[in-house]
Amino acid sequence: MAHNEDLFKKIISHAKEYGYVFPSSEIYDGLSAVYDYGQYGVELKNNIKQYWWSAMVQMNENVVGLDSAIFMHPTIWKASGHVDAFNDPLIDNKDSKKRYRADVLIEDHIEKFNDKIEKEAEKAAKRFGDQFDRELFLSTNPKILEYRKKGEEIKEKFVLALENNDLEAVRQIIIDNEIVCPISGTRNWTEVRQFNLMFDTKLGSVTDDASTIYLRPETAQGIFVNYLNVQKTGRMKIPFGIAQIGKAFRNEIVARQFIFRMREFEQMEMQFFVKPGEELTWFEFWKNRRMQWHLALGLGNQKYRFYKHDKLAHYANAAFDIQYEFPFGFKEVEGIHSRTDYDLSQHQQFSGKKLQYFDPELNQNYVPFVVETSIGVDRTFLMILCNSFVEEKITKEDGSVDERVVLKLPPALAPIKATVLPLVKKDGLPEKAHEIMDALKFDFNCQYDEKDSIGKRYRRQDAIGTPYCITIDHETLENNTVTIRERDTMEQIRVDISKLAEIIGQKVDMKHLLKRL
Ligand code: ATP
Repeated sequence: MAHNEDLFKKIISHAKEYGYVFPSSEIYDGLSAVYDYGQYGVELKNNIKQYWWSAMVQMNENVVGLDSAIFMHPTIWKASGHVDAFNDPLIDNKDSKKRYRADVLIEDHIEKFNDKIEKEAEKAAKRFGDQFDRELFLSTNPKILEYRKKGEEIKEKFVLALENNDLEAVRQIIIDNEIVCPISGTRNWTEVRQFNLMFDTKLGSVTDDASTIYLRPETAQGIFVNYLNVQKTGRMKIPFGIAQIGKAFRNEIVARQFIFRMREFEQMEMQFFVKPGEELTWFEFWKNRRMQWHLALGLGNQKYRFYKHDKLAHYANAAFDIQYEFPFGFKEVEGIHSRTDYDLSQHQQFSGKKLQYFDPELNQNYVPFVVETSIGVDRTFLMILCNSFVEEKITKEDGSVDERVVLKLPPALAPIKATVLPLVKKDGLPEKAHEIMDALKFDFNCQYDEKDSIGKRYRRQDAIGTPYCITIDHETLENNTVTIRERDTMEQIRVDISKLAEIIGQKVDMKHLLKRL
């Protein structure tokens, strides 16, 4: 799909206009790559976290939770490798003065060959119609083979350069492939340099080097250093997992895609501890489980793909990303990594404390291997927001055409489940509406709205993504019935007030998502 910048801009302004996401410190002109979640944003975010937490902790007997502190002993980041190697290669364009991640420039360039292949295939599909054999075409068409070869050649060189930590070679790939700055359009590049992404600060009042601590760039290390605490106190038997949701901080070089890449963000991570040698089986298990979690949301299976890492971190023996098709292309939302025994072994070495498991079946101690699933709350939020944003044309009864913007959020994640609307602000209708809301609010997050015409109020709820609108009119006072309007179909039915909780529950209960896992 062509990248859709206009659509993305609309989504960003919709998010702001309807109280989902605000730029941080806006009255001071904002803070780059930091955002605040508004009154609806916080609800959607909480629901996403709830869905993940239930799916991981509540649904799995052998997964438990944790909430470790953001500040940790600085040696942890030495042991994990972050102090020495949590770097991104950066490059500047001398004309535009814009800074880029060299690896991203190259990856985007490689992705262009994939786009070209897709375009050729689409053209051919149109030409050949029903007789088109896509697989055959992709594996034999000379143009396609040429594009693929080019992409693979660059990828090979790139992987080698990264493996050798050869920044000059990374730069040479940019030069050789005539990659230009998207702003200035020139190839006037600086050298490639490494840049560490961790924020540091000082602990306490003594400001010497020893007091330097870091804002965690991932939540995972808090899990590793608590491995033994949880295993012992929870009497956990391998295999078992520890899940955690929390803030992480990275001083990202380029942060231009709204909440896709932030400097302060939130992660939902799970480390699953297994017997050495069984890690790849569990890796497959969690890879599929996590994809299932995404697909259950109903955003569309074709919107997802797995992406296999070609360049593995030195400690990993398998890594896949789950990518989603954002308006700006397929991008990573989640990573599933087989991290071997690297982290626990490192912490064992740096702390001098044993981090082992006594396996009663083998009658033997070992350092467990780890399979990790790591997903960003904010990227998931953006994925759902992009997927839900729909501009619709509606033909009215009199034949005229109206438009509406509707957020078709998965109902279980919608911030407000039902809004109660008195048709008019008099005749006892507001009182009746409040009575209904007071009964429903124990089960659902509800809203009350009496301002503006009913049509405007429906549009407003559509824009917020509320699955149900309940309208109270004069008939309600006579026979205790209301109309309930469904967001996506706009269908209205008249029901007894006593049926409301059941109707709403059938649609918005998180249970329905969890049962699809
Ligand atoms: P990228 O290559 O996009 O920088 P990454 O591979 O460094 O991501 P991981 O370290 O695997 O990301 O982090 C796991 C998850 O955390 C990512 O899949 C993403 O959802 C989220 N994440 C990472 N960095 C950011 C960020 N700067 N802003 C928002 N979410 C992030």
